[in-house]
Amino acid sequence: MNRYDGVKVLLTGAASGIGRATAHRLAAEGAAVYAVDLSADGLAETAAGAAGPGTIATRVADVTDEPAVIAAVADAAETLGGIDVLVNVAGVHKTTPIETLSAEDLTLIFNVNLVGTALFCREALKHLPDGTGVIITTSSLSATQGNPYMTAYAASKGAVLAFSLSLAAELSARRIRVVPISPGTVDTPLTRADMFPKGIDLSYFGRIVAPFGVADPAQIASVIAFAGSSDAGYLTGAELRVDGGSHM
Ligand code: NAD
Repeated sequence: MNRYDGVKVLLTGAASGIGRATAHRLAAEGAAVYAVDLSADGLAETAAGAAGPGTIATRVADVTDEPAVIAAVADAAETLGGIDVLVNVAGVHKTTPIETLSAEDLTLIFNVNLVGTALFCREALKHLPDGTGVIITTSSLSATQGNPYMTAYAASKGAVLAFSLSLAAELSARRIRVVPISPGTVDTPLTRADMFPKGIDLSYFGRIVAPFGVADPAQIASVIAFAGSSDAGYLTGAELRVDGGSHM
């Protein structure tokens, strides 16, 4: 008996990093996963890398495109025969000093990280069962810890955290749990492409490398798997910071 046998999971951001690790972890625990992302190639790699007993179906969609989100969630419910757990992982990061922060970057970051999450929540709630439904969101350590060059990203993740806590309160009447997960620094294509390089003075970086070092995506996926499972049945409206001791 696997923890996710018979559980239907809708997952965004599944083509890379934490999302891919989550798809693999949940499928390994028996879940039927419906994986959404912008990247068709990345989704194909995620599906190809899965080892049962669960399954991974894929769909290309932009989480900021409202009609595409509505269609993707409806198709997920039809394909899976319902949705038990929504896991929002899709996100973008842009390391930018305040002097070069553009309105365009701010809009993109908020659209993907906050608006995309909110749209998926709204649509999935048409299907999530009262009593057992779960929503996981992905905030960040930077929502509550200041780090240079992350103003826009941190603000968007603070917004995700605030959104999640209010949503948890609102959905408590339906006994649907909402759990925001806040990773510290994780070794993914996002951090490799955007945080580690760029000719920006990264001397601040020592502040955000945790006592336990940089995380592997699987170390975040395993916490998502716990939070989404019935093992966490009394967990709602509480931020889970998975940061290797950054905030001690
Ligand atoms: P990643 O870049 O490896 O994966 C992000 C995925 O989101 C990609 O597959 C990308 O295609 C997808 N995506 C981006 N915009 C999209 C859109 N508009 N529509 C659909 N899909 C879209 O990044 P990651 O490091 O695995 O990050 C996953 C989540 O975890 C993000 O929300 C990120 O902000 C958060 N996070 C990451 C870290 C870290 O250190 N890596 C730390 C804290 C929080």
